[in-house]
Amino acid sequence: MSIEQVEVLVPVPILEKFSYLLPDQFKEKPPMPGSRVIVPFGNRDLSGVVWNVGKNNAPKGRKLKYLIEVLDSKPLLDKESLLLADWASRYYHYPLGEVISYFFPPSIRKGKEAKFAEVKFLELTSKGEFLNVEDLSKAPNQKKLIELIKEKKDLSQKAATAYGVNTSSINALIDKGFISRYMRELSPYKKVETPNRNRTRKKLNEEQKFAVDSIIKSENKNKVFLLNGITGSGKTEVYIRAIQEVIKKGKQALILIPEIGLAPQAEERFKKYFGERVLSFHSAKNDREKIDAWLGASKGLIDIIIGTRSSVFMPMKDIGIIVIDEEHDLSYKQADRFRYSARDIALYRAKIKKIPVVLASATPSLETLNNSLQGKYEMLNLTKRATGASLPRYIPVDLRGKELKEGFSDELIERSEEELKKGNQILIFLNRRGYAPSLICKTCGWLSNCDRCDALMTLHKRPPKLQCHHCESQKDKPKVCPSCQSDDFLSYGYGTERVEEFLTQRFSKFPVLRIDSDSTKKKESMNEYIDSINLGKPMVLLGTQLLAKGHHFPEVTLVGILDADSGLYSADFRGSERVAQLMTQVAGRAGRDKKPGKVLLQSYSPDHPQIEELINGSYESFAKNLLKERKSVKSPPFAFQAKIQAESANSYISRDFIKNLINNLKKSKAFPKDIRVVGPLPAIMEKKSGVYRWELNTLSGSRKSLHQFLDLVQASLYSPKTSKKVRWSIDVDPLSSI
Ligand code: ADP
Ligand code: ZN
Ligand code: ZN
Repeated sequence: MSIEQVEVLVPVPILEKFSYLLPDQFKEKPPMPGSRVIVPFGNRDLSGVVWNVGKNNAPKGRKLKYLIEVLDSKPLLDKESLLLADWASRYYHYPLGEVISYFFPPSIRKGKEAKFAEVKFLELTSKGEFLNVEDLSKAPNQKKLIELIKEKKDLSQKAATAYGVNTSSINALIDKGFISRYMRELSPYKKVETPNRNRTRKKLNEEQKFAVDSIIKSENKNKVFLLNGITGSGKTEVYIRAIQEVIKKGKQALILIPEIGLAPQAEERFKKYFGERVLSFHSAKNDREKIDAWLGASKGLIDIIIGTRSSVFMPMKDIGIIVIDEEHDLSYKQADRFRYSARDIALYRAKIKKIPVVLASATPSLETLNNSLQGKYEMLNLTKRATGASLPRYIPVDLRGKELKEGFSDELIERSEEELKKGNQILIFLNRRGYAPSLICKTCGWLSNCDRCDALMTLHKRPPKLQCHHCESQKDKPKVCPSCQSDDFLSYGYGTERVEEFLTQRFSKFPVLRIDSDSTKKKESMNEYIDSINLGKPMVLLGTQLLAKGHHFPEVTLVGILDADSGLYSADFRGSERVAQLMTQVAGRAGRDKKPGKVLLQSYSPDHPQIEELINGSYESFAKNLLKERKSVKSPPFAFQAKIQAESANSYISRDFIKNLINNLKKSKAFPKDIRVVGPLPAIMEKKSGVYRWELNTLSGSRKSLHQFLDLVQASLYSPKTSKKVRWSIDVDPLSSI
């Protein structure tokens, strides 16, 4: 039977799939689903991905165009990836043609050949075949090259040079017509690799052993584990062992990590165990590196991929386990365009493949904790620090009535000095970069407002500027007040730059290392910082949440939290969950090895119930209390949530857009009953990056009803009648309300 047409996904924000007729030359051997093709679209030619072969779902009477070219004779995506894309598109209500783009490196998606880099190879010509090598005895280098080619069969020019043959000998033989040069694709990965067996193996403790065994036992099952282990309890060690079993069976592993900064260390740690077939993958890799990793993983040449959020779409030949480290981390959720959660995509991917997933965290998200408490996930507890160290002691520092020096109490300064003099490292945590969060005119009260956001601009000193941390716009610090011309300004509040200035002067004998997204902009700087910390000399580490995540600094004995109150009174209902996670993670950097650690927590409200719970209880008890609260008000995870947002240059236009949307939908017979609609309401920060944002918040106890509702929303929003003045978005399982 000959195939007449195919259905193709094109990268445009349209819900439809488009059918194309096959020219005669492709009818007998039509492109398969997952192959790329070139198709005419509007007045352009686009690279699309074949979705269906044979079916024609195009509306009756539409005149179909002919497909232009088939780029791949074999599909680039397997069935699993296609199923996953389909699910993700429906779950997040985002066009499939755009979702599918996430499964490719950008240049491949646009149509570049899916090949490893081509390199120069050398081969004998027929004249060369008959050459007697002894004729070359006066040119030993040339003789050696001929022998090498005969011996190796496959010889790249680079390999020849590595054997000591210089380029002039190669060129001489080419000139004489004995050999020729050709280009061929070369995989940068070795075919087989024996893992490094020399490393000393740690003896697992009972809890670790139990965890490893449980995971291994569910090898071919779709089972989800919450590896719930306190900071430094050896979670990584557990999933390394589980992965080892998977690799032994010839399968692959995918490990998601929250932060690019953690990738090099993770890669190094895994290479020690698993040899060279371990690769990290993230957005900072260049195009060639991305393509290589992608090809390597899909051809099964790589055993382990360690990557950030987008790696969850990486095609793999035979994936056997997925690990999500720090599963609670916000970076797993993409905040714009396709608003997916890499954790939730991973869970579905594992379901399709029937493989286990390990969610690891010392501070699991309430969603995950709840799923574990309900028995949907199996909870594996690690309650002790693996090195035998104990958890750090919390020492609250009541700031009420105290005189502070640049945000520091005397107690924190004294204790810090004590530790440094003993030769230890200390870590000061302040989750605010820049010099001061605002600039105020002392004469008239003028404030450094951002023109484009409902927010204040932060004062930076190096380089000097005012910068908005919401829209990133910047301007020079004014010399005189724009409103009253006075030059008497007050830098109000503390950021890391300012605290760095104070610490450098106060502890002048010790190096101060500031680690925030400004000081780590350069690609290698984070690595360099980590290396210098690992030298173990006494020093002051000062940083934002970048320092809180996952790092193991054995010499840190004191953690100082400058401002434990920030975030306690957040307008976001997830605020306290975030604060508890962050505090616990930062605190967890103290005393991880032989030396015991302490955490000084500066607060104006040390008897606030949430701070007390963290100090005297644990993250888990804190989280369980929060779950009770959420249950009583039926908020997530006890309800499913989605948010629809509209933004435009005018607040009324955004508001009316949402208002009309919901009013129209309510007229529909398909409007589900069991759904709560809140709004239109302005976003917590209504004006951001120059646009005004209004939202509709929707909640339901039934996932199905919520999705039925979102289907209506989607159909309405994608209609050609929708106003072009407004940009809108649908966010399923939103995590941020700002
Ligand atoms: P986590 O991932 O829970 O933060 P890690 O796996 O990084 O913890 O382990 C913390 C430290 O404890 C690391 O230095 C690690 O090498 C060490 N460690 C892990 N398991 C053991 C063990 N069974 N015996 C001794 N040390 C261990
Ligand atoms: Zn003024
Ligand atoms: Zn701004």
